[in-house]
Amino acid sequence: MGRRLDELAEARLAELAEGGRLRRLRPYRREGTDLVRPDGTRLVDFSGNDYLGLSRHPQLIARARDWTERYGAGASASRLVTGTLDAYVAVEGKLAAFKGAKAALVFNAGFQANATILPAMAELLGETLIYADRLNHASLHHGIAAAGLRQQRFRHNDLDHLRSLLERDQGKPGRRLIVTESVFSMDGDRAPLGALIALAEEFGAHLYVDEAHATGVSGPQGRGLTAAHPGRVDVVMGTVGKALGGFGAYVAGSRALIDFLVNRCAGFIYSTALPPAVFGALDAALDLAPTMEAERARVHAHAERFREAAKRRDLSTGASDTQIVPLLIGGNMATLAAQARLEEQGLLGVAIRPPTVPEGEARLRLSFSAAHRDEDVARLCDALAGLETPA
Ligand SMILES: *Cc1c(COP(=O)(O)O)cnc(C)c1O
Repeated sequence: MGRRLDELAEARLAELAEGGRLRRLRPYRREGTDLVRPDGTRLVDFSGNDYLGLSRHPQLIARARDWTERYGAGASASRLVTGTLDAYVAVEGKLAAFKGAKAALVFNAGFQANATILPAMAELLGETLIYADRLNHASLHHGIAAAGLRQQRFRHNDLDHLRSLLERDQGKPGRRLIVTESVFSMDGDRAPLGALIALAEEFGAHLYVDEAHATGVSGPQGRGLTAAHPGRVDVVMGTVGKALGGFGAYVAGSRALIDFLVNRCAGFIYSTALPPAVFGALDAALDLAPTMEAERARVHAHAERFREAAKRRDLSTGASDTQIVPLLIGGNMATLAAQARLEEQGLLGVAIRPPTVPEGEARLRLSFSAAHRDEDVARLCDALAGLETPA
């Protein structure tokens, strides 16, 4: 039986390789924003999500260490059993304040949050029509699929299309839920949140917004794009593993919503609580992030400089206006070749291929950090000379 399974896997891997879709883990040693390969060669990391450089911040490291010494290496149980330290509840209070929400709840990861909150929402809402942006993250798709609800996908950030779907469905029974990201992970553009909220309110739809790439970087004091619209988005989730420099995720909303999730969300209930070190790092990140205006200005300036350099060479960066800048290439093989060309120059921009992005829309996803040196960004801009204009 073991051999049969190996053979099936090998055949499938060969198929993926043929389509340029084989993925491999590549180990690195990390030194700041530099990655050192096993052979000693170095790459500047333009693919990570440590947008503010918080993952190496001495205060996060110190508090993670301190909370480990005080509370131990593990939480020892799920949150509802004995995994809720009083320090954890205080962090959730800080999170709620950071998001301008009544309450917040920490999840073990963003994937786990989206994949399990949406099914819990389905229990809450009953019969529901879901409208999802076509470019939503895989974890949101998982959640909607697991909820067993009908999903309509609207064209990316196209509110006219969304309105036409809502109008078409007007006679149908059930509630409506709109699901989107605020800053899109692979395109680096932003949802038109004000208009989206107005549309949701017009049609009596609930709104679920994933702020994975906005948290810490966008919105007032880095509180995310939803922070500009307090109380008007029903469910706000985000991650801690990106700009906040640590690990984990959160959901913010009303007290009743959070209490409901504590009671009914399987991904919260049936999983061991995050270790004290992780909560400690989050606690420190929440102290620092609102004050990091200089870092936010720096990361946005890096991205703008790169977009301008790409424009001068007729390379498309799509609708990006954040710290995430795709270099749209198209074919899988051509995108892998472009990645290799950058690597020859000591720069890492990872090729993102289907199914992470739509078929035929492979790209290099470049992402910027306040920790990048100006000369690293200059080098990346110069390296664009070696990339051919996509067909
Ligand atoms: C990264 C990401 C997630 C998953 O978060 P993790 O904490 O890494 O599991 C969810 N949604 C979006 C949009 C993301 O980019």
